[in-house]
Amino acid sequence: MNIHEYQGKDILKRYGVRVQEGIVAETAEEAVEAAKKLTEQTGTGWHVIKAQIHAGGRGKGGGVKLAKNLDQVREIAGQIIGMQLVTKQTGPEGRKVHKVLVAQDVYYPGESQPQEFYMSVLLDRASGRNVIIYTTEGGMDIEEVAEAHPDKILKEYVDPRVGFRPFQAGKIAFNLGLSGEAYKEMVKFVTALYKAYDDTDSAMFEINPVLKTSDNKILAVDAKVTLDENALYRHKDFAALRDTNEEDPLEVEASASNLNYVKLDGNVGCMVNGAGLAMATMDIIKLSGGEPANFLDVGGGANAQTVEAGFRIILKDPNVKAILINIFGGIVRCDRVANGVVEAYKNIGDIRVPIIVRLQGTNAEEGARIIDESGLKVYSAVLLKDAAQKVKEVLAMQEQQA
Ligand code: GDP
Ligand code: MN
Repeated sequence: MNIHEYQGKDILKRYGVRVQEGIVAETAEEAVEAAKKLTEQTGTGWHVIKAQIHAGGRGKGGGVKLAKNLDQVREIAGQIIGMQLVTKQTGPEGRKVHKVLVAQDVYYPGESQPQEFYMSVLLDRASGRNVIIYTTEGGMDIEEVAEAHPDKILKEYVDPRVGFRPFQAGKIAFNLGLSGEAYKEMVKFVTALYKAYDDTDSAMFEINPVLKTSDNKILAVDAKVTLDENALYRHKDFAALRDTNEEDPLEVEASASNLNYVKLDGNVGCMVNGAGLAMATMDIIKLSGGEPANFLDVGGGANAQTVEAGFRIILKDPNVKAILINIFGGIVRCDRVANGVVEAYKNIGDIRVPIIVRLQGTNAEEGARIIDESGLKVYSAVLLKDAAQKVKEVLAMQEQQA
């Protein structure tokens, strides 16, 4: 589960990580009030207005702007709130901005240049360890750095049996070329950052840039945080951090019905029980010349309600030209699923696309008979290859009609 920059910074602060201070606002007037308050708290004269969306690259996309007085705060916040922000990570359609973070300007001019580093903590699945990835080349696109200067990207692995050790923090600060006060600050920073990541059971903390100010303070200017959804039961308060504005509406609806749904770009919707079978079904759709419109696992207990909820979600996708239901009747009997399909079909009423139902397992023949005798525009199949053939036929039919 992704969260916003301002929420990530709140977590970091709780663990003693120094951050660029900010206050979130939903209107231009709130932004002005936030700016006044920040000036009182931090003494900052200038403010940065930062769009809060779950995507990076906001700076280059025009979602991060410097305001030098309160009129500019009002004007810039007014522009950014409500805009459709397009960045490298949003796709061409962009994301609507609902909130901005009004932050203190931390790039104050000093005798020496401020320095930008990159640092992230995440799980390295290959080694089964947490890893801190860092480089002196921060502030810019980390993918570009990885391509142009792979040697500049450094990694520090953390053995879960012993945890993060003090010498590792020192090594990182040293490798970043720091000494004196800045070195001490970096040791504190990375130690607190790792603890924040570890304690919250997160999947990723990415700070780009980590800033060294001209007076040797180290602070997080940005925070991209992914919480591990499987650990949310241990952090009940994190549920409130979810922002469904940032998620695909169909995926939000599906998760409310306890369905595992991921929207894809194809033309054949599919509904399957079991993730492995769902993957295989998507392959079959490709082999038959279609493209899967989604991944949908209805889980072990496929009944009329789950089938109906699944149908409704698939049918909301305008690209869907056919639906393939592929259910293995192990615990759930095929005749029950077939009745569920027929019932759901009748409840929904205006289904405009052909449906192929492939039922295999307990009472498969009876299931097929129920489908065939229903009088609805539903085709049954028992063998997967027959189902694939049927998908091919209905797609060809749809093409002729179009
Ligand atoms: P991202 O583009 O989505 O990664 O958003 P960031 O929070 O990383 O901000 C993008 C860029 O805005 C940073 O790399 C900085 O160059 C700039 N920026 C962020 N905070 C400040 C600030 O306080 N003052 C100034 N002058 N620039 C800032
Ligand atoms: Mn950033």
